[in-house]
Amino acid sequence: MGNKQLVEAAAADNIWLSMKSPRDKKVLDALAKVDRIKFLPKVAKYHAYYDGPVSIGHDATCSMPSLVALMADMLELYDGANVLEVGTGCGYHAAVVKHLIGKGKLTTVEIVPELVKFGRQNLQKHFGSLDDKIEVIEGDGSEGYKQNAPYNRIYFTAAPNMDKFKTKCLLSQLSNNGILLFPEHDGYLYLLKKSKGKVKEEQYWGVAFVPLKGKNS
Ligand code: SAH
Repeated sequence: MGNKQLVEAAAADNIWLSMKSPRDKKVLDALAKVDRIKFLPKVAKYHAYYDGPVSIGHDATCSMPSLVALMADMLELYDGANVLEVGTGCGYHAAVVKHLIGKGKLTTVEIVPELVKFGRQNLQKHFGSLDDKIEVIEGDGSEGYKQNAPYNRIYFTAAPNMDKFKTKCLLSQLSNNGILLFPEHDGYLYLLKKSKGKVKEEQYWGVAFVPLKGKNS
């Protein structure tokens, strides 16, 4: 089992394909460029090529590759996009997204200092070096990150508390035709599309993510 088989497993996942299909080939190509084993701590490497979430310590996981693919696909990423990720973790998801936005910029915010260091290190190794088109920020991303807004896309890799979570500040950091994507702890994946001042919401059932910390959660 290696990264190639992992990409094949992600490509064939029927549950996610029932939410969005066909899977964009660009997304699978991006997934193939990121060897998951290199993003995991030593103790977790054994699980690298299993299509499931893998614990990376500090209450965080490296997300399930087929779900990373689904989210990238739903976000309709394109070359040149300005993207915000909340929850860097080990940097695996961020690496896949960066491949999909080419010369675009990815800002990724992580609240756990050890993971900021780990994620940044992994991204640095993967891309050779980090230029100003990938910024790993230490902090609370639950209210976004105003400094690099407006974003074409914003996505969360941790689940807000839906009773408290306010999307208003995030939508204000989103450009026209922008997309905001966030999951529930155990439930729906929400996709909000902003167009000409209006917001359209779509919901997809059946995801599980670690809880979001911070002010807006
Ligand atoms: N993107 C990762 C998934 C990481 S799990 C991947 O490559 O698979 C979710 C991450 O969100 C954890 O690392 C957690 O520490 C982080 N997180 C939780 N609350 C946060 C917040 N308010 N701001 C930024 N990061 C947060």
